[in-house]
Amino acid sequence: MLKVENLSKQFGGLKAVNQCSFEVQEGMIYGLIGPNGSGKTTTFNLITGFLEPTGGRVFFKDQEITGLAPHRIAHLGIGRTFQLVRLFHNMTVMENVLLAFKGQSGERLFSAFFRPRQVTREQMANEKQAMVLLEMLQIAHLRDEYVGNLGYAQQKLVELCRTLMTEPEMILLDELVAGISPAFAERLLDYIRQLRDEQGLTFLVVEHNMHVVMSLCEWIVVLNYGSKIAEGTPEEVSSNPKVIDAYLGV
Ligand code: ADP
Ligand code: MG
Repeated sequence: MLKVENLSKQFGGLKAVNQCSFEVQEGMIYGLIGPNGSGKTTTFNLITGFLEPTGGRVFFKDQEITGLAPHRIAHLGIGRTFQLVRLFHNMTVMENVLLAFKGQSGERLFSAFFRPRQVTREQMANEKQAMVLLEMLQIAHLRDEYVGNLGYAQQKLVELCRTLMTEPEMILLDELVAGISPAFAERLLDYIRQLRDEQGLTFLVVEHNMHVVMSLCEWIVVLNYGSKIAEGTPEEVSSNPKVIDAYLGV
């Protein structure tokens, strides 16, 4: 589904991502791990168009997407969340989620003036779809709450909900469970498994918590100083001496 070929990003003299290659198979949950500063977020930004690579190529479903704008990549079916939540705090949960819809007819002046009924009908359909997702993530009761009043874990759920609204085929999650309680993290992991099992979504997950990575991911790619040092099943990478060295800082 996703193929990354010799991907590189240099910031001045720093090789943040260095000749990195890996593939992601459809319907699987992949992990991208590595010590702090090893290039995980940069890799996400390169795949989703938020950064332009200094070398290498990215393919999604056999189409080259290297260097495309973020909204075009999102439109092709890659959704993402951010390491630090990006939501509008002075808007409600529902308003934030509905922002995921680009090019609603209400945004086009002509139809807004001359076809108000169509706009209303479309908006109602969008709200209904949003409610299904909010209910699934068990935050439907918060629909009219301002995002600024929510806890961090709930904001993460709103962000996930907004990503799901774009109906992606593949989702990149950057430290989804960092900073939230173990019980809540377990709930989030169940949602991810459910989305994969029921809707066939593909996931690439950056996660610091090794317990989470090992229990969630079926295949793991390991970065260190921007380079891929290993990949394999959780069992394989956790017993790989190179990986152990990288984590122990040897
Ligand atoms: P990770 O997500 O694995 O912790 P990052 O991808 O955020 O790592 O960062 C990889 C390296 O690139 C780090 O050394 C970081 O300081 C550097 N880096 C990241 N973004 C930038 C940037 N915009 N400009 C300069 N250096 C950056
Ligand atoms: Mg990061």
